[in-house]
Amino acid sequence: MPEGLDPWGMEVPEDYARLMQEFGIRPLEELLPSIPDPPHLMRRGVIFGHRDFERVLERMGGGRYAVMTGLMPSGRMHLGHKMVVDQLIWYQRKGGEIFLCVADMEAFSARGIPYDLGRKIAFEEYLVNCEALGLELERCRVYFQSRSQQVQGLAYSLARRVNFSEVRAIYGFSGETHLSHLYYPMIDVADILHPQLEEFGGPRPTVVPVGVDQDPHLRLARDVAAKFSEEYGFLPPSSTYHRLMRDLFGGKMSSSRPDSALFLTDPPEVWERKLWDALTGGRPTAREQREKGGEPSKCLVYELCMYHFAPEDRELLELKERCERGEIICGECKEELIGRVKGFLRELEERRREVRPGVERLLRRISP
Ligand code: SF4
Repeated sequence: MPEGLDPWGMEVPEDYARLMQEFGIRPLEELLPSIPDPPHLMRRGVIFGHRDFERVLERMGGGRYAVMTGLMPSGRMHLGHKMVVDQLIWYQRKGGEIFLCVADMEAFSARGIPYDLGRKIAFEEYLVNCEALGLELERCRVYFQSRSQQVQGLAYSLARRVNFSEVRAIYGFSGETHLSHLYYPMIDVADILHPQLEEFGGPRPTVVPVGVDQDPHLRLARDVAAKFSEEYGFLPPSSTYHRLMRDLFGGKMSSSRPDSALFLTDPPEVWERKLWDALTGGRPTAREQREKGGEPSKCLVYELCMYHFAPEDRELLELKERCERGEIICGECKEELIGRVKGFLRELEERRREVRPGVERLLRRISP
């Protein structure tokens, strides 16, 4: 496994520039002027890289394109997941057809989650939150991997031209890897490519917005698309890459580290307690901070504002300047953020209540 790129791992890649060079990911910055109303995550470089995103951009003015993403129902939905949903909402407004896969086969193969439990987690944690955040699920193609004969059938067909050496070179599998984990990448490739099957609209640009740790899946999907371009007419999937959301102590935000992640269904008091413990870029004493200023580039409170809680660029810039000039110290800054976060959580809770019956109907239809 190349260092720092493990789709099932817990590391936050330190050196994004090195990863881009090593894996041929291009800077998104070069396309920024031609992206219509780029979202804050693109403007701020949180989404920093891409492969073939031009192809999708050409269609944004009115052509057809697909957006593919997956959620693995193995834990609770946290702010790292919200970052992907924010991108889907933007693409939906820009005319993209969203394919949202509930990766219950992945949850089973990688985490041992039975399908019925995966269904419950997908509903309670992910689908209700997606709709409450603003994604219109009725306008998406939502499906469960374990119930999609098209995806499973496609995976099996494509697997005949992918050999063990190839997946081992990409994923680093060893002799200990069990067969369901070994086969799972083919399901993932089929998820990414199936929007281009005739029954789903035929070959067309498809973008997969991912954290950079998911790039192995994209590389395999692009290789496979090239091998089957004549047979199925596949275009290589495009992708964008975002920085991984760090948890409150600087690791990769993950459901398996509940004390350091911020979950969307946690009550405001829990967020408040966790935020008081978060790592900052502050100085050892308030006096020193007033004199020297803080270091927002090292600060997780600043990162939360950058990713989620300061939608206006001017607002974020002001915070950065106040911090660097020592005009605000960390306690005051955290209080401001906690106030904002409480408002967000109250609204989200209210929205969850409103959208729940509709999402339940959708679930019964797609997974009776
Ligand atoms: S003042 Fe705010 S932004 Fe600056 S280091 Fe402290 S918590 Fe971070």
